[in-house]
Amino acid sequence: MAFHLSFYQEGDYIFHGGEPSDRAYIIEKGSVDILAVDDEAVIHTLTTGELFGEMGVLDQSVRSTAARAKTKVTLLEIKPGQITDRLSETDPIIQALIGVLLKRLRALLPKNGDQPTDDLLSHVASVIEQSGLSKFRLESELRTAVNSEKVQTVFQPIVDLKTNRVAGFEALSRWLHPKLGAISPFEFISLAEETDMIIEVGSLVFNRAIELLSQLPDSVFITINVSARQLNSTEFLPAVSQRLAANHIKPNRLKLEITETMMVDINQTAQWIERCHRAGFLVCADDFGTGYSGLEQLLDLSFDVLKIDQVFIRSVLNNDVNATLVETMVSLAKKLGMQLVAEGVEQESQHQLLTSMSVNYGQGYYYGKAMSIADIMAQASQLFSD
Ligand code: C2E
Ligand code: CA
Ligand code: CA
Repeated sequence: MAFHLSFYQEGDYIFHGGEPSDRAYIIEKGSVDILAVDDEAVIHTLTTGELFGEMGVLDQSVRSTAARAKTKVTLLEIKPGQITDRLSETDPIIQALIGVLLKRLRALLPKNGDQPTDDLLSHVASVIEQSGLSKFRLESELRTAVNSEKVQTVFQPIVDLKTNRVAGFEALSRWLHPKLGAISPFEFISLAEETDMIIEVGSLVFNRAIELLSQLPDSVFITINVSARQLNSTEFLPAVSQRLAANHIKPNRLKLEITETMMVDINQTAQWIERCHRAGFLVCADDFGTGYSGLEQLLDLSFDVLKIDQVFIRSVLNNDVNATLVETMVSLAKKLGMQLVAEGVEQESQHQLLTSMSVNYGQGYYYGKAMSIADIMAQASQLFSD
């Protein structure tokens, strides 16, 4: 949609009260007086860069104020579609806030005879209802679930490909919503990551991991997904260390997984890794190969483990490029003294190939789905007997 500029001389009216609201304006140059409709009193004066006339556009009512050029002005015109399109693409929480503010502002303004045609307002309201408010609602339900420990932790086996025995587990969160059913961690973890709730989710996961570790042989490890907010919090690592010590569990039985998409700032990632190492934890690069970071930069970081993402494993048998990539990762990891985990192993043939490539560990439905602590303990004698 092309932008359109318009020009006014000092004293020109841009719009009068009661006129249809067919566009909003951004002041490119000069200043504009906003006037009350019935008397000529100036309510406020706006200058370069400010937006006006948007309220009438958003709810398609007639102008409830007038606008007059205080100086010679240049205006950038914005058509209703340009506002509503942007609005429907923006973050739902922001949409909800705009909707609420708009209604409040409307209620404060003097009423004139004409009623707004509610079309646009109800469109905005339905967008908000569909996404914004439902997100607010979901967030508050998640908070309740976290507080009452209804967010579950399950553990997926990680198998040592030399011995074919379970060597450890990855802790994964599960939320069974009372009405909506199982909600994917991709959805509720990213919701929790928008606020400090991820710290509480993480804390639940750590408690359960410690509970499981304390019942399993010392050789078994657990890997845990951590988010940037947790790593940026100064209390996080000391709290975990303290809880491990209180349960007489060595920190090297916990490995922290950092996804490649979190590694936007390489210096920050290096700092995270250093802090984890100082606390005695091993660090895994999760979803390896899918992120934006350059391979060289990533390999400069002192990860202990690389987790090759499922996308490479899925087609390792029928896609030569991916097979070569996995081989390259194996030889790089060997040179750098890092261990490798192949994620998303679903078939016997993939397992065979990865074993022949000397990948250290495998994880995926072929070995087993994530299980509850009770299920693991019920099988523990088989899983960990000599
Ligand atoms: P992830 O860390 O890459 O975890 C592995 C995901 O792959 C899990 O999905 C797991 O169930 C799934 N998976 C395992 N084996 C197979 C397989 O053979 N085939 C296929 N198709 N999938 C397999 P899930 O549990 O849905 O978790 C999704 C993501 O959510 C995780 O990806 C992780 O990034 C995040 N996540 C889960 N729990 C937590 C948590 O407690 N904290 C944080 N920060 N992130 C979490
Ligand atoms: Ca992971
Ligand atoms: Ca992964």
